[in-house]
Amino acid sequence: MDPRQKPEFVVQGISASNGIAYGEVFLYLKTELEVPAYQVDPDKQVEEIARFEQGLVVTRQQITKIKNEVEQNLGPDEARIFDAHLMVLEDQALITETIREFETTGRNIETCFNSVAQRYIKAFDEINDEYLRERAGDIRDVAQRVLHNLLGEAAHHLSELAERRVVVANDITPSDAAGINRSAAIGIVTDSGSKTSHAVIVARALKIPAVVGVRDLTTRVASGDRVLVDGYEGVVVVNPTEQTLFRYGRIQTEKKTFESRLMTASRLPAETLDGVHVPLLANIEKVDEAGQAKECQAEGVGLFRTEFLYLNSSHLPGEEEQFAIYKAVAEAFAPQPVVIRTLDLGGDKPMENIPGLIHHETNPFLGFRAIRLCLEHPEMFKEQLRAILRSSAFGKVRMMYPMISGVEELTRANAVLAEAREELRRRGERFDEKMEVGSMIEIPSAAATADILAQHCQFFSIGTNDLIQYLLAIDRGNDHIAHLYEPTHPAVLRTIKRVVDDAHQHRLPVAVCGEMAGDPVFTPLLLGLGVDELSMSPPSLPAVKYFVRAMKMSDARQLAAEALTLSDPKEIYARAEEFYKARVKVE
Ligand code: PEP
Ligand code: MG
Repeated sequence: MDPRQKPEFVVQGISASNGIAYGEVFLYLKTELEVPAYQVDPDKQVEEIARFEQGLVVTRQQITKIKNEVEQNLGPDEARIFDAHLMVLEDQALITETIREFETTGRNIETCFNSVAQRYIKAFDEINDEYLRERAGDIRDVAQRVLHNLLGEAAHHLSELAERRVVVANDITPSDAAGINRSAAIGIVTDSGSKTSHAVIVARALKIPAVVGVRDLTTRVASGDRVLVDGYEGVVVVNPTEQTLFRYGRIQTEKKTFESRLMTASRLPAETLDGVHVPLLANIEKVDEAGQAKECQAEGVGLFRTEFLYLNSSHLPGEEEQFAIYKAVAEAFAPQPVVIRTLDLGGDKPMENIPGLIHHETNPFLGFRAIRLCLEHPEMFKEQLRAILRSSAFGKVRMMYPMISGVEELTRANAVLAEAREELRRRGERFDEKMEVGSMIEIPSAAATADILAQHCQFFSIGTNDLIQYLLAIDRGNDHIAHLYEPTHPAVLRTIKRVVDDAHQHRLPVAVCGEMAGDPVFTPLLLGLGVDELSMSPPSLPAVKYFVRAMKMSDARQLAAEALTLSDPKEIYARAEEFYKARVKVE
């Protein structure tokens, strides 16, 4: 063994996105900046101001560098935001006020700069003008950089990542994930998180191998260490030896062979051995994922999470901007269906860039989220509804509301929709008068009243990610209790069964669009319980299709019926896994 080789160690986390990656670590740590306050010696005043100016110069160099990289890698539009950042740095008022504050108070320059910048941010935040409010976000971002530089702390931004690296982070927010540079991040490892946190869903869509819930790995590795990420098993090997790399090379080849078998099968119909067709659709977050979904032979889009249009934006996208996007997706899939979900902001998808929309909450998952937020902001909601309705003239668009908790919300949302329709009629715009409207079933109270909700919509889509978290009281993003997040819990299976039965009595179809739909082990349970279609992240489609083609619906029904008689989630899981393994061989 090479004596310079650091010792290998293995960390077990939670498998979040399949695949194997090997490379150097890019440590991405987000910490709250603490700005120390102290008095500066009067004879050090000139030096202090020079330090401030040097901090501004370094910040300018950094931003220019990022701007050039982004321009090269992503294009001029994406790079434009950094022009706005450079303008903040050149704002004379900000600089002279900081110096004036320093001269009057004698406090260190970071403290003075921070207090002036905070005053500016607050003032811009309060102005009733979208363009000026955006400036608040720019100032906030630039101020953080300047402070990091003055305090001598390295600030990392994921979009800065330009070379191929494995990102090791304490946490990755959905906006971090949405801004990730796909060609540079070859693997993702996070201390916290679980299979269904939104950042992970994004990683899966981008086909980046990911392992989450590794607790304190960020304190045990340094940038430049080498790690191997096994997204299949949820394992991270730090400083792997040659033998380990060789072993993983073989595993990777086997998996690749199996995956290419899956891709070949994915061109065939999604039909069980006893001839039942199972529609398999894709979950997408951005227009450009439509191509990948089609490549994986999705029969449409079962969930278009529109909040990602809002998440990385410093403004609320208006009707026209949204219409162009929905129309593009509708046209890409026509005549296949596209289910557009209305805005689901809040929870673990806060809108940090638009101050004032969502306030700090102690319990965001039980807070001002999704349909609750939309019903409180009917004008914003209607912009989206009009955009969706108009896109329905260009394909087979369906629409659904997230986080419906009972019939009142559903009927209120439908009333806003009726207003949006009326406005479009007055404007003479075209739209599909018969566009189907559905309700997500992801809150236990909705599941318990499915028979009532069924009278006010045309389809259901079960969001198992949230449904499980609310049924079992397990935070879907908390790694400490991730082992208790059990999709095979009898409460989950009984609830799905009840929703399906109620829906079918009212002749409504039921889809499942949570992550459970993309794990083949659960496929026979869901289909056996009577679920009509499954929607999942595009990379999961080939494996689910392969399995659908390898099983009989009659066997799936029998498995589900048996599962309903069992009380132990682990036993139910074991039966489902056995069912899978008996039909699908990985080598
Ligand atoms: C769900 O909750 O299962 C779902 C599909 O919605 P999201 O993951 O976006 O909350
Ligand atoms: Mg949900």
